[in-house]
Amino acid sequence: MPIYEYISVNADDQAQSCRICAKGFELRRPIDRAPLEVCPLCKNPVKKVISSVNTPKITKPLSYSDAKKAGFTVLEKRDEGVYEKQ
Ligand SMILES: [Zn+2]
Repeated sequence: MPIYEYISVNADDQAQSCRICAKGFELRRPIDRAPLEVCPLCKNPVKKVISSVNTPKITKPLSYSDAKKAGFTVLEKRDEGVYEKQ
């Protein structure tokens, strides 16, 4: 079941949002259910937040030479438990 994030459309207005939706909240909802339009607590309008949680992180794995350039000591496993400095 996907988790959706909602936040009050009037988050700055305390009269039209509660402490939950003013900060935003997450809700697990069946995918075939209509999108939530009001806060379940205060019944004021909310909007779906486009979450960045599922955005793949663009972190390139360090290559051996990159790691060495960055000053890491790269150890390579040799025989049982013996680590040799490159
Ligand atoms: Zn609310």
